[in-house]
Amino acid sequence: MKLNESATVAINSLAKQKIAAGINIFNLSAGEPELMPHPIIVDAALQALKQGKTLYPPVAGIPELKQAASQWMNHEYQCNFTADQCVVTPGGKFAIYLLLQYLLKPADEVIIPAPYWVSYPSITELFGGKACIVPTRAEQGWKLTPEQLITVCHTRSRILILNNACNPTGALYSREELQALLAVAKQYDLWVISDEVYSGLCFDDKPYVSCGAFAQHRERVIVVQSCSKSFAMTGWRVGFTFAPPTIIQALTILLGQSTSGTATLSQWAATAALQHSTLVNSYVNGELKKRRNALVNAFNTAFNLQIAAPLSSLYLFVSLPTLGVNELSSQRFCERALAEANVATVPGIAFGQEGFVRLSFGADPERLTQAVAALADFCQQAYRGH
Ligand code: PLP
Repeated sequence: MKLNESATVAINSLAKQKIAAGINIFNLSAGEPELMPHPIIVDAALQALKQGKTLYPPVAGIPELKQAASQWMNHEYQCNFTADQCVVTPGGKFAIYLLLQYLLKPADEVIIPAPYWVSYPSITELFGGKACIVPTRAEQGWKLTPEQLITVCHTRSRILILNNACNPTGALYSREELQALLAVAKQYDLWVISDEVYSGLCFDDKPYVSCGAFAQHRERVIVVQSCSKSFAMTGWRVGFTFAPPTIIQALTILLGQSTSGTATLSQWAATAALQHSTLVNSYVNGELKKRRNALVNAFNTAFNLQIAAPLSSLYLFVSLPTLGVNELSSQRFCERALAEANVATVPGIAFGQEGFVRLSFGADPERLTQAVAALADFCQQAYRGH
C-alpha cells in the first residue's frame, strides 16, 4: 500500500527540527492556536489528576463530556443532540479516519470539494475508496455549489465531506447553501461528513451554521467536532462525533479495537472547556482575531495589497501571483521560503490548489509580523529581481 505522509505534518516536523537545531524559524505551517491553555482547563486537568482519574475511560467517552459536548452543540448551533448520539475520539482526525474505515467499500467514491484539508483524500485512499475532487474557485467564495455536486454524483458516490468552516480557505456556508447541498445529498443517498472543527473560529460576528441543525437530514449527517481549534487544545487530542446510532455503535467498536478510547485526563479537561465554552472560546477567538488582523495588516502593508481578512478558521490562503511571485510550483516556493527566509508555510498543492500558499495565524502577533517582513524581503529578492 502506498502511504502518503500528511503534507502539513511533514512541513511542521521539518520546521521543528530546524528550530531544535537553533535556527530562528517562523513557523506559519502548523494549524494550531499557540496559546496557553485557559485556566479552567488547567484546573480541571489538575483536579482530575489529584482525584486519580487516571484509569481507562469508557471507550465511547465519559458521560460528562458527551453531555457537555451535546449541550454545547445544542446551545451554540441550534442542534438537538442527546449524549448517546455522541462518541468521543482522540481528535477529530481519528474520527474521520474511523468513519472512512467503516463506511467505505472498495471503489466507493468520496466527494471532496477542493481546496480540501490534506487528510481527506489520503485517508479515503487508505481504505480503498476513490477521492472525487471537485474544484471550487475564489470567485465562488471557494464553496461547492449544488449544481457542481449533482454533476459528480453517480452510483458509486457514497460520502460527501463538507468542511465548514474551511481549512485552508476560511469559507463559511450559509443556511441556504447547506440546505441546498443537503437536499442533493438526500437525492443521491450520500452520507454527509460535516467537518466542523473550526466552528468556534468565526470572526466579525459571522453566524456559524452546523449541518447538525437540519433535523430533516439527521439520518445522513455525521458531525465531526473537536476541542483542538475552538478551545486551543490541539495536544490534548479530544474530538467528538454526532451521528445516527449505527455509526455511533460502529465507531465505539472500532475505538474498542484500536485506542480503547481517549485519554481520561484529556476528557476531564475537555469537559471543563465545554461546560465553560463561552468563556474559553471567547478567549481563544479573541486572541486569534487579533492574530488574524496582525497577519493581514502586515501582509497588506508589506506587499501593498488589500487582501480581505478571512471570515473563519486559522489561515490566510493567498495566491502566489498576488505576492508578485512568478513561480508556478507552490511546493518549490514553500521549500525556498523555508530554506532562504526561514518561514514555514504550506504549499497550495497539498490542498489541491496549485499556485497558492497557506499561512497559519496561530502564532503570536509579533512573530507573525516578523514572519511577513522576512517573507516580503525574500519575495522581493528572489522573485522580483532586486
Ligand atoms: N479537520 C480539519 C479541517 C483540520 O484542519 C484538522 C486539523 O488540522 C482536523 C480536522 C483534525 O483536528 P484534530 O484531530 O486535532 O481534532
